[in-house]
Amino acid sequence: MRKCVSDAGHVCYLCEENCPTGAIELIDGEVVLDNDKCIRCIECTHHCPVGALKRIDIE
Ligand code: SF4
Ligand code: SF4
Repeated sequence: MRKCVSDAGHVCYLCEENCPTGAIELIDGEVVLDNDKCIRCIECTHHCPVGALKRIDIE
């Protein structure tokens, strides 16, 4: 689990909305990644406007 670190606590949901497999869920500002659903396409990192998801371990 990784904290969304966008400005002023704003959560844009772009990562969640652009994940093709539903692997990301935003819960109380926390990015929750389901490793079983993640296909490592890195769409989430491409869509995050503040680069917060670069620190998520997508391996
Ligand atoms: S890398 Fe994983 S979590 Fe990110 S958009 Fe792709 S499937 Fe979803
Ligand atoms: S795309 Fe980035 S800024 Fe937007 S909710 Fe996801 S982690 Fe936060």
